[in-house]
Amino acid sequence: MTLKPVRDDLVDTAIPWCLTDEHRAWRRSMRDFTETVLRPAAAERSIEARVDVKILQRMGEAGLYGVLVPEEFGGADLTSASLMIEELARIDSSAATTVHVQMANASLLAELGTDEQRARLLPGLVTGESFLALGLTEPSGGSDAGNIATKAVRDGSDWVINGAKQFISNSGTPMTHHILVVAATGDFGTRRPRTTAFLVPTDSPGVDVGPSYPKLGWRSADTHPIYLSDVRVPADAVVGPQDKGYAKILQYLTWARIPVAAMAVGLAQGCLEETWHFVSNRESFGKPLHEHQSVAFGMSDLAALTHTARMITYDAAWKKDHGHPFDQEAAICKMVAADLANKIAYQASEMHGGYGFMDEYAVTRHYRDAKVLTIGEGTAAVQRLLIARSLGFKA
Ligand SMILES: Cc1cc2nc3c(=O)[nH]c(=O)nc-3n(C[C@H](O)[C@H](O)[C@H](O)COP(=O)(O)OP(=O)(O)OC[C@H]3O[C@@H](n4cnc5c(N)ncnc54)[C@H](O)[C@@H]3O)c2cc1C
Repeated sequence: MTLKPVRDDLVDTAIPWCLTDEHRAWRRSMRDFTETVLRPAAAERSIEARVDVKILQRMGEAGLYGVLVPEEFGGADLTSASLMIEELARIDSSAATTVHVQMANASLLAELGTDEQRARLLPGLVTGESFLALGLTEPSGGSDAGNIATKAVRDGSDWVINGAKQFISNSGTPMTHHILVVAATGDFGTRRPRTTAFLVPTDSPGVDVGPSYPKLGWRSADTHPIYLSDVRVPADAVVGPQDKGYAKILQYLTWARIPVAAMAVGLAQGCLEETWHFVSNRESFGKPLHEHQSVAFGMSDLAALTHTARMITYDAAWKKDHGHPFDQEAAICKMVAADLANKIAYQASEMHGGYGFMDEYAVTRHYRDAKVLTIGEGTAAVQRLLIARSLGFKA
C-alpha cells in the first residue's frame, strides 16, 4: 500500500490566521525559488563547505535581502521575512542564515544610519551587490556582548579602532564591502563601556578578515574572525548614537530572534517531509516501514513538534507586525523552536537508520545545521534570561 498524505497543501493552509493572499503568494514564490535554485546542489555545497557566490547573487536578484528595509527601498513585514527564512531553511539553512544576516543588517542600517549612509549603501545591500556584516561578538564572549574590549579613540576628526571580532557571518564574501564594528568609545576597562557602531570598509588598512571557520553546520555560509589594527575611519563612519551603540542595536534587533525561530521551523518541516518520503518507500520485517505503528507515531511526534514551533513563531511575528508587545514572545519562540528543531532533527535522522548518518541525505545536513540554532542570536540561556526579566525577575 502506498502512503498518501491526507494534507499536502501546507504552503497555503499552515497558518491561515496570520497570512494575507500576498503572504501566500510570497510563500509559493519562495517555494518555487528554493526548489529550483537551492535544492539541486544543497548536499554538495554542505559537504564541500563551499560558499556559492552565484547562489548569493541569485538570492539578491530575487529580492530576498531587502525584505525588511523601508518601503521606499522595497521592504515588507516580519511575517513575510519569516516565511522566506522558513522556506529557505526547509532546504538549506546556510542560505537561510546568509539571507537572515544580510536582511537584518540592511534593516539595522536603514534604522540607525544617516540619510547619506542609507542613500549610499541600501540600494547595493538590497540587491546583494554589497554585503554588510555585523561585528559585535568578541573572543572574550558573545552572551555578555556589552562587555566590549575593541577600542575606538578619537584622533583629530577621525577614529582609530583596535580589537578583534569573532564568528562574524557574511564577513568574507567577495561582496562584503563593510563591517559594522561595535567598539568601546569611553569608560574603557569597565564591564559596561560606552559603545559606538562604526561602518568600516573591509579594504581599510589594518582590517584583516581571518580564514573561514570549519563548522559543524551552516557549512556553506560564510563565517570569519576579524582583526582590527589601527583602523582609521572618518567621523561620518559612526552609525547611530555615539556612546550608546550597543544598547540601540540590541533594542532594535529584538525582532531578529523571530526569523531565527522561523529557520528552526523550516528545518523541522524539511525533516518531516524527508522522513515521510523515506518511511513511505522502505520496507522492514516484510511490510512497508510506514505500516509499523511506532513509525507512524514517530511521524506524529515530528508533525506535532513542527506545528508547535510554527505556531509560537508566527504568533510572535504577527504581534510585531500588528504593533503588539512581542519581546517575551520573540525570546520564547527562539528558545523553544530551536530546541524542538534539534529534537526533530535527531528523531528524523534516527528514523532514516544508517542513511540518517550519510552526508548526502538532507536529514543529516539538517541534524548538523540544527545545533547552532540554540546559540546564534542569543543562546538558550540568554533567552531564559530575557524571559525571566520579562516576568519581573532581576536575572
Ligand atoms: C555560525 C555563527 C555565526 C555568528 N554570527 C555572528 C555575527 O554575524 N555577528 C556577531 O556579532 N556574532 C555572531 N555570532 C556569535 C554569537 O552571537 C555568539 O556565539 C553567541 O552570542 C554566544 O556567545 P559565545 O559564543 O561567546 O558564548 P559565551 O557567551 O561564552 O557562552 C558560553 C556558554 O555560557 C552560557 N552563558 C553565558 N552567560 C550565561 C549566564 N549569564 N547564565 C547562564 N549561562 C550563561 C551560554 O549560554 C553558553 O552556553 C555567530 C556565532 C556562530 C556560531
